[in-house]
Amino acid sequence: MMENEVTVLIIEDDKYISNFICMSLKQEGYHYIKTDTGREAISLCYANNPDVIILDLGLPDMNGIQVIEHIRCHSDKPIIVVSARQEEGEKIKALDMGADDYVVKPFYMGELLARIRVAMRKSEKSASVEMTQTFQRDYLKIDFSKRLVYIDEKEVHLTPIEYKLLALLVTNRGKVLTHNQILSKIWGYGGGGDANSLRVFMATLRRKIEKDTTNPRFIITEVGVGYRFAEKD
Ligand code: CA
Repeated sequence: MMENEVTVLIIEDDKYISNFICMSLKQEGYHYIKTDTGREAISLCYANNPDVIILDLGLPDMNGIQVIEHIRCHSDKPIIVVSARQEEGEKIKALDMGADDYVVKPFYMGELLARIRVAMRKSEKSASVEMTQTFQRDYLKIDFSKRLVYIDEKEVHLTPIEYKLLALLVTNRGKVLTHNQILSKIWGYGGGGDANSLRVFMATLRRKIEKDTTNPRFIITEVGVGYRFAEKD
């Protein structure tokens, strides 16, 4: 099984949470290494090149954001941030700095394991390969080669920006994208996009693809952070 070859680095100073994560990963067949400091995490990362990194933002010796900066100098492996409720701003900064996803304490282990699977899948598969295929989920179908979107087999007209938004979210499905990441991908840096216009485009996109916009099936709002295309359940 693929999982047997996957090594996860856990950077967490809370012994209880750290042990809990280690035990669960072991059960799932992952290898793991762990540390409770940022400094050791950086050297472990160099020495072991782990496949996935789980990073608590509140470490005793270093800011989690600095740890991400160091790791990103030499590794593009997925980083999943574990943050406390009061670290809202830090969490967004971490994602913008190159972390791949996050869970908020207290979290269900199943949630963290799902994030790990999504992150692993993303790092194995390039988005360009996917763009040539069609995507189908329930009543939504996207033909990437023709740039066409269907609801219940009927073509829906999307504006170019709505299409780009949907394609971006679908190719990153399961993973949160921050407002900044979406804005820079769709409009480019300084390209005139802002959080308000993004909200408006998202609302019109949802009206076109969601059957119940008050309870979206596909595009999930991550309050204060961004959006996520729902992982298959
Ligand atoms: Ca901590």
